Amino acid sequence: MLHGVGGQIAQKLNRLGIYAIKDLLFHMPLRYVDRTRLCPIGALRSGFSMQVEGNIEFAQVRYGKRRSLLCRISDGTGVLTLRFFYFSRAQQERLQRGMKLRCYGQARYGAQTLEMVHPEYQVLASDQELPVDETLTPVYPATEGLQQPTLRKLTTQALAVLEHSQDELTELLPDAILEKFELPELGKAIAYVHRPPADAITQQLMDGIHPAQQRLAFEELLAQYLGLQRLRKQVRAHIATPLGGDGIQSASFLKALPFRLTAAQQRCAEEIKQDMQDTRPMLRLLQGDVGSGKTVIAALAAIKTIESGYQAAIMAPTELLAEQHYKTLKHWLQPMDVSIILLTGKLGKSERNKHLDILARNNPCIVIGTHALFQQDVVFSRLRLIIIDEQHRFGVHQRLALLDKGMVDDIFPHQLIMTATPIPRTLAMTIYADLDLSVIDELPPNRLPVNTVVISTVKRDEVIERIARACAEGRQVYWVCTLIEESEVLQCEAATDTSLYLAEKLHGINVGLIHGRLKPAEKDSIMSAFRSGEIQLLVATTVIEVGVDVPNASLMIIENAERLGLFQLHQLRGRIGRGSIKSDCVLLYQPPLGETAKIRLETLRNTNDGFEIAKKDLELRGPGEMMGTRQTGLPELRIADLIRDAGLLPDIHKAADILMQQYPELIQPLVDRWLGKDIDYSKV
Ligand code: ADP
Ligand code: MG
Repeated sequence: MLHGVGGQIAQKLNRLGIYAIKDLLFHMPLRYVDRTRLCPIGALRSGFSMQVEGNIEFAQVRYGKRRSLLCRISDGTGVLTLRFFYFSRAQQERLQRGMKLRCYGQARYGAQTLEMVHPEYQVLASDQELPVDETLTPVYPATEGLQQPTLRKLTTQALAVLEHSQDELTELLPDAILEKFELPELGKAIAYVHRPPADAITQQLMDGIHPAQQRLAFEELLAQYLGLQRLRKQVRAHIATPLGGDGIQSASFLKALPFRLTAAQQRCAEEIKQDMQDTRPMLRLLQGDVGSGKTVIAALAAIKTIESGYQAAIMAPTELLAEQHYKTLKHWLQPMDVSIILLTGKLGKSERNKHLDILARNNPCIVIGTHALFQQDVVFSRLRLIIIDEQHRFGVHQRLALLDKGMVDDIFPHQLIMTATPIPRTLAMTIYADLDLSVIDELPPNRLPVNTVVISTVKRDEVIERIARACAEGRQVYWVCTLIEESEVLQCEAATDTSLYLAEKLHGINVGLIHGRLKPAEKDSIMSAFRSGEIQLLVATTVIEVGVDVPNASLMIIENAERLGLFQLHQLRGRIGRGSIKSDCVLLYQPPLGETAKIRLETLRNTNDGFEIAKKDLELRGPGEMMGTRQTGLPELRIADLIRDAGLLPDIHKAADILMQQYPELIQPLVDRWLGKDIDYSKV
């Protein structure tokens, strides 16, 4: 492909997702280093990274707490100490008095002078003149054995190729679009981003908001949008079974429900019903804040399927949730003769086989499970509806795999996807461009807003007293343990310790413990004991984050709340305030609180509205500080950042319309360029 790319380097490049020159050109710098100037040593300031040059005054090894090599340089305006904790003999020998050093690093206050620890440096002869760089130096995402100099050399070569021919990276956007939206040409934008000129505004580049970067983000989001649109078109071209049903079971279900649907629920249910009666597959996203009552809508859609003589699958992100959905539906459907099956990963073999047998025969039924539902050995004979709960845990790929599974004789199942992620409409239009949208924009009536307080762990004892009082009043309580570590083992240990501690402090109160490492049967019995009121205080890890529903629980303590993201806290808090009792949430924090953490906790104290919270969440997360995609439910992109670049979306939608109407032939190459390896359209 390029000069000097042998098998070994090629392999390492592959690890970075680089297979061709084109990929190299899309391998964007993480940040930039300014070596276009020399800073007089006297003008250095602590905390800033600069390039300086000076003559070595002395270099010696010091044996203090830690052995280090010190090298002092001066340029007549000031002196600077370079400190190396790791150094080789050869290095030591080259740093001799009388030589000149050019180095780059971050200056820090040292014992006597400013210091740079492990700067990058170059040894020059005392009379040697070396020109400074003409462009900012990019720093690329690297991988083991593939260092910056190699990546820079390779991108330089790739840029040279690009300059001579556009074959590697043709401009796909027509002039009309470039002009209308004031976008620089692709080749120019790429060249700029890789080698910004000395006068570029570094901060703008670092933040990813330079017009050259925005040009690339624009194209990527446009391709994403067009790709999903196309996916939608292809799915919708398939035939689905219209699920009309006779409405008898739906009616008796609604009659037996202990509540009436809200107007918003009725509207969404109606939209879904209309879709399901069509011969085209439904592709609908049901969005509704935590506690807005999505489950009952899912149940209605599933019953409609049964009524029509077919099978419906409900897929949950965790076993705990699958089990809970099973319980809820089983309870709601008790008076009716509906077969409902729970299929989780940990079923015994004979039981599993029994269930599989029901699915394989032509029995109408509802099956609930996790992604284990779509393992090899599960065969559906009459699957016509797939419901995915809490969409953000499943990517496009999993959805495609599901469809693959659900297709029987070229008949496509209807799909309903449910999410609590309250993203703004333009964003939803882009990342869910393949889906129609229904929004439950109203909470069930008589819901009292949760009263939230923020309390320091110093006052832990008061909080414990509060638990005692709540339990005495017959209320139930969650205590959520959070840990910053990803380790599930540590989380569980912490929760176990806390439950022992609380049990000791709270005599006479029945304390339960639930975490991810319990066996399903154990989780099950604990959840039912909590549901029945036998357990009064449930200590939990964040396994309860999504979906758990015990209306009598009306007090929640979240430990180390400062460590969690706004939206995750909102999800957790959504576990209470579900009944008609006034609920309280205590956000316990470890002082001192950082500035953003403070705003986060205050936001939660001030509002219960998921949309408000999501908005604030977007505001607080500066560019580049995007939460993991797992938490936001947003897709992984190469260049664009949906939050940072949200402002581009209206223009992107306009550009997409222009392309679809006037340049349809450009859509395929655009989608291939950006999503090619990701989405396998052959499946649909
Ligand atoms: P989510 O949208 O977060 O999944 P759920 O479906 O778990 O919410 O519903 C939250 C709680 O509200 C449940 O206890 C459910 O039974 C109850 N609920 C749902 N709809 C209504 C309604 N229309 N009136 C009263 N309670 C309702
Ligand atoms: Mg739910």
